[in-house]
Amino acid sequence: MKLLVHSGTIITMHNKKIIRQGAIAIEKDTIVEIGKTHELKRKYGRGYEKIDAKGKLIIPGFINTHQHAAMSLLRGYANDLPLKEWLEKWIWPIEKHMTSHDIYVGALLTAAESIMSGTTTVNTMYHYMPEENEAKAFAEAGLRGVVGHVCFSWRKKQDKKALEDLAKNWHNKADGLIRASVDPHSPYTVDPEYMKELKEIGKELNKKYGSEKAPIIWHIHAAETDDEPEKIRKAFKIQLKNGIMEYLDSLGFLDERVIAAHCVALTKRDIEIMKQRKVKVSHNPISNLKLASGISPVPKMLKKGITVSLGTDSPCSNNTADMFETMKTTAILHKGVNKNPTLTPAQQVLEMATIEGAKALSWEKEIGSIETGKKADLAIINLNKPHLCPLYNEASHLVYAAKAADVETVIINGKIVMENKKLTTLNVEKVMEMAEKTKNSLLERLARNVK
Ligand SMILES: [Zn+2]
Repeated sequence: MKLLVHSGTIITMHNKKIIRQGAIAIEKDTIVEIGKTHELKRKYGRGYEKIDAKGKLIIPGFINTHQHAAMSLLRGYANDLPLKEWLEKWIWPIEKHMTSHDIYVGALLTAAESIMSGTTTVNTMYHYMPEENEAKAFAEAGLRGVVGHVCFSWRKKQDKKALEDLAKNWHNKADGLIRASVDPHSPYTVDPEYMKELKEIGKELNKKYGSEKAPIIWHIHAAETDDEPEKIRKAFKIQLKNGIMEYLDSLGFLDERVIAAHCVALTKRDIEIMKQRKVKVSHNPISNLKLASGISPVPKMLKKGITVSLGTDSPCSNNTADMFETMKTTAILHKGVNKNPTLTPAQQVLEMATIEGAKALSWEKEIGSIETGKKADLAIINLNKPHLCPLYNEASHLVYAAKAADVETVIINGKIVMENKKLTTLNVEKVMEMAEKTKNSLLERLARNVK
């Protein structure tokens, strides 16, 4: 496919460059040239499908670096509870009844919601099943994603099989849209020996199916709550000395291919280790606030030069996949708690939602900014709305004023997946119908206690 997006304001997220009256020429899945509309229109006239972005912003799609896509099925199922009770009494019992088809349906719903709100890449951690899974749903939706399998000490054999199948069948598949990851659930649900083993398994899978350009990464929840060291002590009789990251480092787990979600309860030493090992962070402010887990020391990590990206977390701890909400919450939260309005400025938050997200997933050579040679993952945002008028500064509008509903058109891997608010890859009404049906069946299975 050949495409010319023209006459818009391009927020490249590359060296803070903005091109007004800009155009982007796309061939197949790749951006071949970026420049002024009058020049590119001459060069890429015939044979190029045109998208007029007059009065609109063209941004690299958002990269949501922490999700559990299938959990959209549980959106609103349990709220206003502490993390432990929420997980143990509500979420885990109903999840036991989820089939591979349920997971697929939930991921389709999240894919639709993500695309419609301008997200082009989602990093998801969930139970992988070979029959149907999140990878299949993302590939059908045309959504880019890192799809993991979540690992627990109590099901090692099953995990190892799932990881092999996931990497073999999905890593760097679906025209390069899908990548696989190895996801130890957390330091308190994965014992130290298994944590080491999962590091080795990831390395082996990388040798077999990965490459320097398209690596298989590790995705873990870490330091989500203050009581995590106590949970580790209870589970494995290990007394932590100086924090979760120090502990994970002692197991040889940490390196630049690890993305750690939450990172709320960190010691000073933890932050130093994260910097040293180049660990990537997914900051999930809405989930942390909703579950009352605390507030991640994001300004401190940013000051150290640690890569901090943004995630929504699951649709039942947020309860949406909306990256606009997450950007605004990030920007205002750290100002408020630190009583410093200069922290997390709009431009930096926008970087966290795009190019830093790409770095967090070791995918920055291909996505995260609008540059020649990168994959064409774009969102077009209509500014012709009262809440986006007048316009002084684009980054300010994107972070503080714009909403998911302002996203009009989305391109992923050079393919138009939403045009003028209509998804081209999925029938959204049908997906919602499937999700309602699955919810009812899931509740019924829970009541009868069968699969
Ligand atoms: Zn999570």
